[in-house]
Amino acid sequence: MLEAPIVEIFSSIQGEGLLVGRRQIFVRFAGCNLDCNYCDTAISKSSESGTLKTVDYVVCKINELKTDDLHSVSFTGGEPLLYADFINEVISQIEIPSFLETNGTLPDEINKLDNLDYVSLDIKLEEHFNNNYSKKILLNEIKSVNILMDKSIKVYCKLVVLPDSNLSRIENLVKTLKNDINKNQDLSVVIQPVSPIELWKDDKKILFEISEIIGKYMDVLTIPQLHKFMNIE
Ligand code: SF4
Repeated sequence: MLEAPIVEIFSSIQGEGLLVGRRQIFVRFAGCNLDCNYCDTAISKSSESGTLKTVDYVVCKINELKTDDLHSVSFTGGEPLLYADFINEVISQIEIPSFLETNGTLPDEINKLDNLDYVSLDIKLEEHFNNNYSKKILLNEIKSVNILMDKSIKVYCKLVVLPDSNLSRIENLVKTLKNDINKNQDLSVVIQPVSPIELWKDDKKILFEISEIIGKYMDVLTIPQLHKFMNIE
């Protein structure tokens, strides 16, 4: 019987990315293969922070939480792709659009998922790690984007930026992304200023500069974390 460590299942409003403002049911998995220094779901990083649940339990909980304004079910974490088989099974048993929030570094796992509707895929920067960044991270993220585009799954990239993010590094990264993704599809990049927003009080100009740099190569939007303003989960 398939089981996965779950931290929580709850209904709320999506606070990030292109589906911001949409009512979703969130299934938060425990465990992550990365260790970003800005992580705001630190409780989900360790697989030990979750409780093992079955597919039946999760499907039942999702059905209980359904509301008329529901847009989709968000599989989030931690890194939900550590449990790709489990997610596939849940998706096959619910008749609700699905949304995956992933760091994109596990392309073989993302390849297992066929029935996803939307994906938010993080692009990590070197400064997101204290000392364990590897170029393989970007290569795997690009591989994942291409797998999703080949399957015609709606994907966008999310880039968390910090007030001291390095502009030339961002430009090189976006150039690589632009060059290496499948050319026949559009890809948007959502800049997400790291929270709390007070960190940006003296540095808002940098956000415009980052947007202009990315805009040279790709469609770009800047969206802060709405749920932090609304003080909801
Ligand atoms: S990938 Fe996401 S969940 Fe994992 S450590 Fe980084 S920010 Fe946290």
